[in-house]
Amino acid sequence: MPVKETTVEIKLDNLKNNLDYLKSKISRQTKFMAVVKAFSYGSDSIVVSEELERLGVDYLAVAYTKEGVDLRKFGIKIPILVLHPQENDFNEIINHSLEPSIYSFRILSFFVDALKKENKTTYPFQIKFNTGLNRLGFIKKDVQKLCKLINLNHPKYIFSHLGASEDLGEKNYSEKQIEEFISISETLEKELNTTLKKHLLNTSGILNYSDYQFDMVRSGIGLYGFGNDIKYKNSLKPVLTLKTIVSQIHNLDTGSSVGYNRGFLAKKSTVIATLPIGHADGIGRQYGNGKGEVLVGGKLAKIVGNVCMDMIMVDVTGLNCKEGDDVIFFDDNSYSAEEFSKKANTISYEIISSISRRIKRKITR
Ligand SMILES: *Cc1c(COP(=O)(O)O)cnc(C)c1O
Repeated sequence: MPVKETTVEIKLDNLKNNLDYLKSKISRQTKFMAVVKAFSYGSDSIVVSEELERLGVDYLAVAYTKEGVDLRKFGIKIPILVLHPQENDFNEIINHSLEPSIYSFRILSFFVDALKKENKTTYPFQIKFNTGLNRLGFIKKDVQKLCKLINLNHPKYIFSHLGASEDLGEKNYSEKQIEEFISISETLEKELNTTLKKHLLNTSGILNYSDYQFDMVRSGIGLYGFGNDIKYKNSLKPVLTLKTIVSQIHNLDTGSSVGYNRGFLAKKSTVIATLPIGHADGIGRQYGNGKGEVLVGGKLAKIVGNVCMDMIMVDVTGLNCKEGDDVIFFDDNSYSAEEFSKKANTISYEIISSISRRIKRKITR
């Protein structure tokens, strides 16, 4: 697909391929929660959520309430978990039929107050337990007190989150987290005298610890095409392709400099291509000064000088490159966002979720 401006292409067939692949790793009875926080990891939350709903996922998850409200406004009907509600969110959560994750006594009290105001005695919610990530969630010693507070309104699911599911060097730690989750679940179920539905695994959890899929799994990065390991390169297909074009070419003599603060100095005759994309579009300054590389006519070209807000300059010396040519930042073929981001010491999650709203989206199959 040749482009005329900076464009993110969203390939929905790749999304389906990834969903099918991840589902093939779990049992047919296990429900699937698709994580669509942060604009569906930088893609397009409405288009992607509609497609996922159409493909039959059971649940969606967002980080913040506004993200869930936006999905409801666009007519998404399936259950939506809000992972990280804030204290003032609960009226909106209830009015838009979102399911809050309750992760602390403080946030539970705001939830209870909102239910009272709405004259509701029950409402679907989930409880998050901290089993070692030490980010959000109740811990084991909270269980007794928690049980008294939720005795009349049981959670629809309880869940936890693994901190290093992609790192098999940390297998012992992951197994300790799994044990802790099972132990907390058993205590809670005994206290409430019921069985509760559970979920634990994210993408790498599905790939590495599928024995612990419980009643549902949660996947984000895998749906967008990354398995956090090179061995999934042929099974998972990146959904996003980021392309731009060469706006202008400059032929520089030795000693000329490029960009703000003269970040690049030409040690020989150098050909520079200016691209219409910058740090405001999500290509951070860490990609500048020779770290990041883009594909120009199938060949790697280094990003030189400092990344500007709206532009990037690349060294195309010796490459067959002219104004108006296509430039690939990452695609679903030879050069993935994982490879691109590694050069600047970061990860696929960060580069794709940073792609700014100002870049044009193009939806294809
Ligand atoms: C973001 C997130 C996920 C998705 O993780 P992936 O590694 O992208 O699959 C799952 N669970 C929680 C709690 C999250 O915050």
